[in-house]
Amino acid sequence: MRLFEKIADSIKEAINGKFISIEKPHNLPADMSILSNDFNLLLESYKETFTDIDKKLKYFIGQTTSKESQTPLDESKLIITNLSNLYQFKKEIEQDQTKDEIYDRLAQVLKNQFHLKYFTIIETNLKDEKRVIIKQVGNLNFCCTTSTGNPSLCRTARTSNDVISVDFHNSCPCFTNTNYYYYCTSININKNIIIVINFILETKDELQKLKDNIPFIKSYINEAAPSIEVKILLKALKDSAFRDGLTGLYNRKFLDEYIKKSIPQITRDNKKLAVLMLDMDHFKAVNDEYGHDIGDMVLKELAVILLDNVRESDLVVRFGGEEFIVILNNIDSAESALSVANKIREQVSLNEIDIYAGTKLSKTISIGLSIFPDDGKSFDSVCKNADIALYEAKNKGRDQVVLFNQTQVSSIDLF
Ligand code: GH3
Ligand code: MG
Ligand code: MG
Repeated sequence: MRLFEKIADSIKEAINGKFISIEKPHNLPADMSILSNDFNLLLESYKETFTDIDKKLKYFIGQTTSKESQTPLDESKLIITNLSNLYQFKKEIEQDQTKDEIYDRLAQVLKNQFHLKYFTIIETNLKDEKRVIIKQVGNLNFCCTTSTGNPSLCRTARTSNDVISVDFHNSCPCFTNTNYYYYCTSININKNIIIVINFILETKDELQKLKDNIPFIKSYINEAAPSIEVKILLKALKDSAFRDGLTGLYNRKFLDEYIKKSIPQITRDNKKLAVLMLDMDHFKAVNDEYGHDIGDMVLKELAVILLDNVRESDLVVRFGGEEFIVILNNIDSAESALSVANKIREQVSLNEIDIYAGTKLSKTISIGLSIFPDDGKSFDSVCKNADIALYEAKNKGRDQVVLFNQTQVSSIDLF
């Protein structure tokens, strides 16, 4: 009976995850002695296995503390469930094509798996000191660093430590509302980009629950981070392939891609588009007289003037060397395109470029203008015609805009 009681007590403890060997009563019959030895062996084996599993799983998920209330079995089960969800998450983000899809997926996990109602994901770029809200779930956001434009206010981004309202409610200068609790965490995507997640909680209990879950939440963020970095890099690479290194304007390759999409649209909508072919007058003389660096500076200033004088929906391209193309979208007539071209020409001629102390340089440009579809059935033919008009502008003495017309084609003297 004494053995039976000891085994019963031990089983009760084992149910709660505590594997305690029994003390063998004296003078037991042989078969009962074997039973109690086997029982202790069984407990030892369970204890060893579960301690081992628990230790390894915690290491996996980066969890250091366990909740008192949970048995090691329940805890292991929870960790395994989370690991399996995490593995699924990892597989899915590998298939995602854009950064936004990955952020969306992360937000879904935070909402559905961790039942977080209010949070904001913010991307901080240390290079240009910009902070952008990538995603906001729920209508509570106390983070003021995006609206004030002062990223250095963000403690978690600065220190890489989590900032939690309970310890010091005033740690975050933005969070002045004492009816809510906050938890801010951050991760460095690369040396310039930091992601901050600001969670808002309604009760202290919710905050405690979040604190308990934070190792799991962080493992999702850590999984997403390298994939987000790859997307950021790919986008930068793609952007740079379409940009001219000197002026930052789009290049010819971009123009080709752009035209493939825009010409069918313009045709469908029965709209017109103007092509301005621009070339700086006597540019070679700038290089010859002041050197290539000054030549480069003149080109950069020209790029700024071009961008300043067209609409957001228009396109400015460095076509090559000191030649540029401006596409004016949705123009109503050749006259309106002519007036934009003349405004640009005038601005360029009025611009004084500071070369070095006291020395200023003024340059002019010539512009050939042609309209799609009035002057050609394809974009290429309209471009050629703009080039012919440019040639005429040069011939007529430079610093002028010439609108293409058919008579120029027959009179052109190519050599
Ligand atoms: P025109 O009025 O007939 O257009 O005369 P131009 O001197 O402007 O024309 P030309 O085509 O003879 O010279 C263009 C010069 O532009 C020659 C080339 O060295 C220079 N160039 C082309 N690309 C660059 C660049 O990126 N930087 C600098 N500094 N010069 C460039
Ligand atoms: Mg030229
Ligand atoms: Mg030139």
